[in-house]
Amino acid sequence: MSDAVKVGFVPLSAPARGIVIAFCDEQLKLGAATRKALGTAAETVKRAAAAHQFKGKSGAALDIPAPEGLKADRLIVIGTGKPAELKEKDFLKFGGVMTGKLAGSNSVTVIAELPDGAMTPDQAAAVATGMRLRAYRFDRYKTKKKDGDNGAVRADVSIAVGDVAAAKKMFAPDAHIVDGVIIARDLVNEPPNVLYPEEFARRASQLRKIGVDVTVLDVKAMTKLGMGALLGVSQGSARPGRTVIMRWNGGKKGEAPLAFVGKGVCFDTGGISIKPAGSMEDMKGDMGGAACVVGLMHALAARKAKVNAIGAIGLVENMPDGNAQRPGDIVTSMSGQTIEIINTDAEGRLVLADVLWYVAKKFKPKFMVDLATLTGAIMVALGTEHAGMFSNNDELAERLAKVGLETGEKVWRMPLGPEYDKQIDSQFADMKNSSGRNGGSITAAQFLQRFVDGTPWAHLDIAGTAMGAPKSEINQSWGSGYGVRLLDRLVSEYYEAKK
Ligand code: MN
Ligand code: ZN
Repeated sequence: MSDAVKVGFVPLSAPARGIVIAFCDEQLKLGAATRKALGTAAETVKRAAAAHQFKGKSGAALDIPAPEGLKADRLIVIGTGKPAELKEKDFLKFGGVMTGKLAGSNSVTVIAELPDGAMTPDQAAAVATGMRLRAYRFDRYKTKKKDGDNGAVRADVSIAVGDVAAAKKMFAPDAHIVDGVIIARDLVNEPPNVLYPEEFARRASQLRKIGVDVTVLDVKAMTKLGMGALLGVSQGSARPGRTVIMRWNGGKKGEAPLAFVGKGVCFDTGGISIKPAGSMEDMKGDMGGAACVVGLMHALAARKAKVNAIGAIGLVENMPDGNAQRPGDIVTSMSGQTIEIINTDAEGRLVLADVLWYVAKKFKPKFMVDLATLTGAIMVALGTEHAGMFSNNDELAERLAKVGLETGEKVWRMPLGPEYDKQIDSQFADMKNSSGRNGGSITAAQFLQRFVDGTPWAHLDIAGTAMGAPKSEINQSWGSGYGVRLLDRLVSEYYEAKK
């Protein structure tokens, strides 16, 4: 796990060491403990603010080197804007801004106080989370590393809080969630020659170490189950496909599980309907849904969530070769429904069809949420700010929308309906896997709905948010790890037995 930023909590009264980070509002007001800690340097803040036209806007930073009267190399003041308006995601952002100001190796004290008093434990924990999320770098294939290169940061951070025990207790589960995000980012960023279905399955199997029950279905097992839709995609690759089932049993014995299903196309050439060369390298990230599910299962198990949860991922490579499936082929899915292949690049829905059906039938879950980098069309519709959400269940959809706003991993609900559904009827089989450009994200979702067997279900199209999303204060990585924090929150807020 990344230990680039190590976080601990100390009392507000502890002496500040190293780089000192404090907060002020739009009136440049500092909290009482902050003023005490800064001593005469508190006056320097006003002068430096005027010199740099720093107005305490939310997330703005004032960097004062060698502040007079303070035994610190630097004093960084973070603007809070109007403190009364602050939400959880603002504290995440503050943490990200702080890490962004660091370089090389650092010893840091964060005075977690707003002008009107100490931050609450959850606010301080959000700052810590933001600091760690921002520090993530994927540079394991760079052989010429120097300390401080490429913005790489190492920091030993003490967060000074009003209640140390409460902040520690609050951050303990959050630290596992951050680890889950990092696992997801690593998986998405890995090159496809390293991360192919068997290797992905091996990495998911490491969750056994933290008490997750992991079953790997190989080609023989999937053939026996009749997963003809998934296997059709996989047959053109020299690397055999896998389905991995992860089970975390932290809830009541016998209680129906929640299920999370991920598309894991480790590389998508498009198959015989081959993609153009431009940006094809990005298709190493076509397993972002599966990566999220692994990161989520890590988070749930590591923080010992009081819930029963299933993570299921379909892992394949979509390659063109002499054995690849053709447009015009008809495959039989595990459900028995037949599918005419129109476009071999519409492969993610074929993989999910069999995994969704398997999970619905075998585990009878309370709900299924699937995540998939499914369509380019969702980026045309929503850009990279929201994931597209499709659902047959209003309660589940509303809950996802709400936790999306809380965590900043936003979703936007898109329509489903019989008029769209009939667009995927085929003249030769029960359905076809593509019906052209118009409403492309919707018809993809309609296709998936034919395989959920009436289970409450939501589909998140994360093609715009899982990879190549614009960098943010808390994410500088190509693979964003989108969905881990969103779904962990869905679980903890609505489905977990309260302690
Ligand atoms: Mn494709
Ligand atoms: Zn794909």
